[in-house]
Amino acid sequence: AKTLKAGDWALGDRTLDGLLLPPKAYEPGQCIARSEESLIRKPSAYRPSSHLIAKLRDYEVRHKRCAPKAVHFSQNGTNSMEDLGDCQFVVWIANSGLGNRMITIASAFVYALLTDRVLLLDHNGTDIGGLYCEPFPGTSWLLPENYDYRWMDKVVWENDHRLGRLLQSSGYANVTLPAPVPNNYVFANLMHNNDEHDKRFFCGKVQRQLKRVPLLYWRSNVYVVPGLHFVYPFHRELDLMFPERGTVFHHMSRYLFRPSNLVWGTILRFRQPHLAAAHRQVGLQLRILESNITAPAVADQLLACVLEKKILPQQSPNTEDKLLSSKTGSTAVLVTSLDEVYYQKLQNYYLDLPAEGPDYIGVHTPSKEETQQFGFDHDKKAWVDMYLLSLSDTLVTSPQSTFGYVGQALAGATPWILTKTKSAETAEETFQEHGYCNRGISLEPCFHAPPLLDCKGRGPGHALDPSSILHFIKPCEDVLGGVKIM
Ligand code: GDP
Repeated sequence: AKTLKAGDWALGDRTLDGLLLPPKAYEPGQCIARSEESLIRKPSAYRPSSHLIAKLRDYEVRHKRCAPKAVHFSQNGTNSMEDLGDCQFVVWIANSGLGNRMITIASAFVYALLTDRVLLLDHNGTDIGGLYCEPFPGTSWLLPENYDYRWMDKVVWENDHRLGRLLQSSGYANVTLPAPVPNNYVFANLMHNNDEHDKRFFCGKVQRQLKRVPLLYWRSNVYVVPGLHFVYPFHRELDLMFPERGTVFHHMSRYLFRPSNLVWGTILRFRQPHLAAAHRQVGLQLRILESNITAPAVADQLLACVLEKKILPQQSPNTEDKLLSSKTGSTAVLVTSLDEVYYQKLQNYYLDLPAEGPDYIGVHTPSKEETQQFGFDHDKKAWVDMYLLSLSDTLVTSPQSTFGYVGQALAGATPWILTKTKSAETAEETFQEHGYCNRGISLEPCFHAPPLLDCKGRGPGHALDPSSILHFIKPCEDVLGGVKIM
């Protein structure tokens, strides 16, 4: 990590230490955030390596050259080598909520960097183009307009080209793909509930064979980058690209995801009047993914967490604090959640009585959606919330939520994670033992469904535990069975 000097921020380096090309490399006006983001976002404490920067510049050239060939992707999956030339692709298929989509786009992009492929995105009904700026200059990361999505709907479990199915047909111990693979495409099923055959995607022998398959469809809802380290050549390359191992998603999310002009306007219209004046911003992201806890109980836990870890000040018994002259600044607290109860809890806490210290505490919430919904307007709100969250100096997040993973990575801030509880009855006992929340072990997202690796086909009982293969791939704090890079 580098040390920041006071002047660094004011300079507003728009290339983010060379991670991005300067705005003039792109079509003018298409992405205002590209020029303005550095004026409101503090610079990262982590510098991208020169190797990563060189890889990205190569990638941009390759993308521009190869993306137009996607018009040749055929309507029924029969792709000809002649049409595609030396270009190879990874085609990302949209899945799940926005956080899941962002961690999987980034995973597929890292894979594309490792394998010299070009990443193209399914934007059927997801309006990726409306949410984000195009990340690569002079080209598009979206599949061509004429792409036949009826065909993509068939790239599911039953598809004959599913990697696990192709491998299975050669026999468990063989780990061999047909040569050549019919129609030149393979469907990598990287969903959390894939099978042991699909999970052999993370075996070196499989990756060597995939080198001759020009088209790879990628359907996933998990962050697989930790698993890519299990393939030795990928591990070597990842270490060169990311010498600070736990910064993969940090750099990749800052490289790939920039709010479109429409979203940028909304971000500024919320941030400037509500958050900009504060000298410090604390972001709280609340999401309940388990059925055994209630929102009011989590609100109590949240307040206890921010007070216990001194993330926010206690109420003060000192009446002097009521005087205007005793407060010199303000801290902004941004609460993002589907449920308003957390916002109300904190808002009341800081309105009822003065807080200790020199700051007024302003509590804000940009949206109240109540339930998870789909469609552009909801995705836009979610993206605005995530982005505002990512402008925080300190974050508290909910276990297991990919929404929080995006916020923390863009922010470059390792979050405090709320402690998981087994049941309402035992919650207090758990908190007494483990605390209401704890600091995460790294900035990286958790890989929720890592492979039990059996690349040699030794059979059940011989598979490797993913958390014991490499010393820097550890069990996640927030998901049982998950692993993350630290
Ligand atoms: P995860 O389910 O927590 O891993 O996160 P995802 O982003 O993949 O899916 C959650 C979806 O629920 C989002 O895409 C939003 O539509 C919605 N959602 C969850 N939390 C929030 C929030 O704090 N604000 C908004 N606007 N939407 C949210």
